[in-house]
Amino acid sequence: MCRAMRIPFNQPPFVGPEIDYVRKAVESGRICGDGQFNQKCHAWLEQKTGVARALLTTSCTHALEMSALLCNIQPGDEVIMPSFTFVSTADAFAMRGAKCVFVDIRPDTMNIDEKLIEDAITEKTRAIVPVHYAGVGCEMDTINAIAKKHNLFVIEDAAQGMMATYKGRSLGSLGDFGCYSFHETKNYSMGEGGAILIADKKYSDHAEIIREKGTNRVQFHRGEVDKYTWVELGSSYLPSELNAAYLYAELENAQKIFDNRMASWKAYRERLQPLADAGELQLPYIPAECCHNAHMFYLKVADLKTRTALIAHLVKNGILAVFHYVPLHNAPAGKRFGRFNGEDRYTTHESDRLLRLPMFYGLKPDDQEFVCDKVKEFFGK
Ligand SMILES: *Cc1c(COP(=O)(O)O)cnc(C)c1O
Repeated sequence: MCRAMRIPFNQPPFVGPEIDYVRKAVESGRICGDGQFNQKCHAWLEQKTGVARALLTTSCTHALEMSALLCNIQPGDEVIMPSFTFVSTADAFAMRGAKCVFVDIRPDTMNIDEKLIEDAITEKTRAIVPVHYAGVGCEMDTINAIAKKHNLFVIEDAAQGMMATYKGRSLGSLGDFGCYSFHETKNYSMGEGGAILIADKKYSDHAEIIREKGTNRVQFHRGEVDKYTWVELGSSYLPSELNAAYLYAELENAQKIFDNRMASWKAYRERLQPLADAGELQLPYIPAECCHNAHMFYLKVADLKTRTALIAHLVKNGILAVFHYVPLHNAPAGKRFGRFNGEDRYTTHESDRLLRLPMFYGLKPDDQEFVCDKVKEFFGK
């Protein structure tokens, strides 16, 4: 997998001012968490998404772990989520002793099928975790209505969803908690990092305590309490200023990154539409309620065999295309920490035939054309 590729699958985003901001952080004499760049990122995220509080974290995985603590998930509780997702969605809740209850996906968006959620609810269910696959929103009005009726938390795994909307509202701001990823494979990055979005400010103080090792250090620094002590269960979830400085440069250029990726996404769709019309493959579907963020461009081919052959054809031509996810309910830990509710009609079958084409900020139009030509060549067009 490490051989040099003419066209990589991903390149970490880099706009330009990142280095300058990292230098500023160093020169400020403070590089630990919650300095000026952390604060600037928090303000940017709150302004952009409209949530009461946004806090940078060391990863999206950690934002999910914070959510599990904020929901007070206990051993034996059940949490509903798709099986077609990254391991972190499940890990964060399994780590608190919860059982992951996997629900099938919709074949059109690859998101959790909202119509199957109610059937998975038991008296032990505490939360629903929709994952906005490829930055395309889940059917959030339906999911929130189910959660309200059954008194459940909604935690959005919006790792891929920054700058995307559902009915005009930011993904990550629609449930109780939303989790972003700023890993180098995501649209906006700080190497490793993430954020938790908190809709209701009543959870804000508790979130700050969890993020600071279970202490009231943040309130102490604000002069709200007169001593700084251990008050709750927590961990160290705040990123350094160096990472936050890198990210802030990208947040300031968020629209530029968005526009560049969207142009690539649209070019892929235009060039590959004839193959879709000929019935060789399926292209992503975007519901009318959703504006996506061009996080990824995926294709679905006939079956696993075709996908393996297409990936090999692309690699032979110096193009790295990848697949994911191995459904969690088929993984060893998934069997231990979860159960699939109902029938796996689409999760395994649809994941077997999905492949992702190179997609990153700065992907060159010529390279993209080459990728599309090689896909067409594979199908004899
Ligand atoms: C990337 C990703 C994560 C994990 O993000 P980290 O920041 O690497 O922890 C979680 N869920 C989904 C759906 C992801 O795509």
